[in-house]
Amino acid sequence: MSKNRGVGEAGCPEEADPPGAESFRCSMAVTQVYRYRDGSMYAVCPRCRVTMEREYQSYCDRCGQCLGWASFGRAAVVRKP
Ligand SMILES: [Zn+2]
Repeated sequence: MSKNRGVGEAGCPEEADPPGAESFRCSMAVTQVYRYRDGSMYAVCPRCRVTMEREYQSYCDRCGQCLGWASFGRAAVVRKP
């Protein structure tokens, strides 16, 4: 449980869990950000694709997926109208 891969700069405590064990409790990396015309940016849940109000939240409000933010700095920005 306390394994550390050297990631998890955002502090998600589940970050070091191995992938695929239990998909909800194991973090999924956030890899997409929607950018709207007004300049606001919203991270996108990798499971249910809903946009999240806050960055670096540990779990998705909608589906409860545990989120990994270690690679968020390299997330793809998708422009939205
Ligand atoms: Zn979700």
